[in-house]
Amino acid sequence: MESKIKIFILLIKNLKILSKFQFNDKGFSIFSKIKFIHINDQNNISSKLKSAILIPLNPIKSKNQEKNSWEANIDGVDIILWDKILKPNKWYSFPSNENPLFYFHPKRNLILPSWDIISSFQLFIKGENNKNKDKLGRIISNKIEYHNLKLDKQPHLNNANFIFLKATLLINKFSEPVNKFISPIKLIISHDIDLLRANDFLSQSIRIYRLFKSLIKLNFRDVRKYFSGFIRAIFFPYRNYGNSIFGMIDIERQYDYKSSFYFLFGKRGRYGPRSSERETLNFARAIPEGWSIGLHYNFDSFKNDKSLRNQLIVLRRNLKKKVLSGRAHYFIFDLHKDAKLLNDCGIKIDESLAWNDSLGFRFGIAGPLIHQNQNINTLFVPTIFMDQLFWHSDNQVEFNLEYEHLKKVGGIASFLIHNDIFFNEEQPLFIGKYQKLLRKLYEDDLICCLPEDIYNISKPFLS
Ligand SMILES: [Zn+2]
Repeated sequence: MESKIKIFILLIKNLKILSKFQFNDKGFSIFSKIKFIHINDQNNISSKLKSAILIPLNPIKSKNQEKNSWEANIDGVDIILWDKILKPNKWYSFPSNENPLFYFHPKRNLILPSWDIISSFQLFIKGENNKNKDKLGRIISNKIEYHNLKLDKQPHLNNANFIFLKATLLINKFSEPVNKFISPIKLIISHDIDLLRANDFLSQSIRIYRLFKSLIKLNFRDVRKYFSGFIRAIFFPYRNYGNSIFGMIDIERQYDYKSSFYFLFGKRGRYGPRSSERETLNFARAIPEGWSIGLHYNFDSFKNDKSLRNQLIVLRRNLKKKVLSGRAHYFIFDLHKDAKLLNDCGIKIDESLAWNDSLGFRFGIAGPLIHQNQNINTLFVPTIFMDQLFWHSDNQVEFNLEYEHLKKVGGIASFLIHNDIFFNEEQPLFIGKYQKLLRKLYEDDLICCLPEDIYNISKPFLS
């Protein structure tokens, strides 16, 4: 029981911070006045309670409903829910008994979610065991049940806030639809700088290997591609790699957007170092004012805390910018085990939470997630859209669904675009896509933020 109260407190804290990003000023002002009260079960509601949203810690449910989902529509937005709880006697359902989003008692001004929100929240934040990891330590999405049930296709906590705001408007007889209170999506863009040069030994060996393979297959188009790639890498090593940093900045400038660059360096990568300290600093120093710099944590970062600390010291001592954010290379990161080190190293915003193999809201949130451990102040803003995934032709429909849904319920979309994909003659499919994407985000009025802005806005809620 006590642990459920802890989950309740964590959930409400998360919803409150999220509401700041999700809603406009008017919506936030209404939402911040809502009282959330935990109760034991929905058939045991004290007659003293009035004007509140009640969260049952041990709700009464019909049998075997945990994984059954249903869909309902509020003001044109389809919402997916699961794990239904039973309606208390003499209460009403909205919008229908069959597919309810919430239950309410108009005279006492009480609202109750129609699903077990505590268990649903736990589903996303509980530990993911080792069996579900590949050999690099990445979580394999199709080994996770809630992913296969498609419960991560919508940001669950953003949906919950959206439902609670609608319920409050309804019970207080506001006539405007809920979308009048939603803010345009907040946007953070970041770039993992895995490679600065094209001519490192590993990359050149791969080109030679592919060159021979395409020779054997008599695929002369590929022969030309890998041969010219090999030669170009010798004479213009930074073209399509390090220099792309400035290409991306130029395009962002056109839309008045800013981004973060997460540099990968250090002594021990999986195949040895790819970028030296000196080279990394040369590029990092050339990034103009207003753009942010962070760390792309290396393979050994969480095995050996000295390596992470040293890399941060190198950036912090040599750059004029504060280094407050980062992301794990390949998303190899365990929220439960690795978060403390980030906190101790002064990382304020981390963007490591994501699936590397499919789209989806892995932690059920598009916005900052607070850690369960109260001593950890780092905020975790999941990466929602990674270049290779959302630009993949197989994922077009799903990307549109997720993006359009987010536009309706509000939240933070974190985009990851790699410098070696932005404009790379060896990956011609992606050329021009970044500019097109930014144009779309700009036309949709997305509001660009830096990780430090997200932290500063959230900070008052953290104590
Ligand atoms: Zn990486």
